[in-house]
Amino acid sequence: MTISNYHSHHELCRHAEGTAVDYVKKAIELGFKDLGISDHVPSDLLPDSMRMRFSELEGYVEDVLSVQKALKDQINVYLGMECEYLEVDVKYYEDFLKQVDYLVLGQHYVKDDAGFHSAFYLKTPEHVIAYGDRVVKALESGYFSLFAHPDLYMCGRDTFDEAAIQVAHKIGKAAEDTKIPLEFNANGIRRGIKKTSQGMRYPYPRIEFWEIIKNYHVDVILSSDAHHPNLLYDDAMKKAEALIEQLELKRIHTLSMKHLKNRL
Ligand SMILES: [Zn+2]
Ligand SMILES: [Zn+2]
Repeated sequence: MTISNYHSHHELCRHAEGTAVDYVKKAIELGFKDLGISDHVPSDLLPDSMRMRFSELEGYVEDVLSVQKALKDQINVYLGMECEYLEVDVKYYEDFLKQVDYLVLGQHYVKDDAGFHSAFYLKTPEHVIAYGDRVVKALESGYFSLFAHPDLYMCGRDTFDEAAIQVAHKIGKAAEDTKIPLEFNANGIRRGIKKTSQGMRYPYPRIEFWEIIKNYHVDVILSSDAHHPNLLYDDAMKKAEALIEQLELKRIHTLSMKHLKNRL
């Protein structure tokens, strides 16, 4: 049973299809109680152009709020954004939080002296550790309501090695301490299962990660990470639901108001 999704995108990011009304209408059709739209934040620092521009932020906010209002009798719509935790002025986060209901942490990059490295293709244990340290700081910052694809650091890797184990424990502990739910992300399942030295594995969710998370008091929430309205509840979501059950994770079905009204 799935009655919510708090990680959905918008065509403004240039790699998703549909505007707020398309996602919300699909969610109503599916009988969802809550739908959160959380498109990628604009950024002048990150080395990609797959995100809205700062000049488009106002239009995004208006688009989601107008649908929130128009369809409020049928579904709860929340305005979110997916955001990296970077070494920037706190004003960057505070400005978003003044406008949106919640921020999703999606750490797609690791930074070192050489620059940004995509978290989808981390190779060295040093970069994995750097990812772990960064996301722990992010969870402790108080800006985020949900941690998207926490195991993204395994996406480009084969073996769940010592560094991967260490990072999973750090994330479990930080999520427990800060009471921030961890996301079980169906988009990794859409990327397809692959042969690894440890058997057939999805790039994420990675089962070794979640076996470690089970040792912590952490809420787990399923997200579609939908970049198209039809992905809000597709086969990947059904596979993810089965995996959550198999792993006996502590699944929650909705976020609490404490997390959803994180507006400054
Ligand atoms: Zn995206
Ligand atoms: Zn996303």
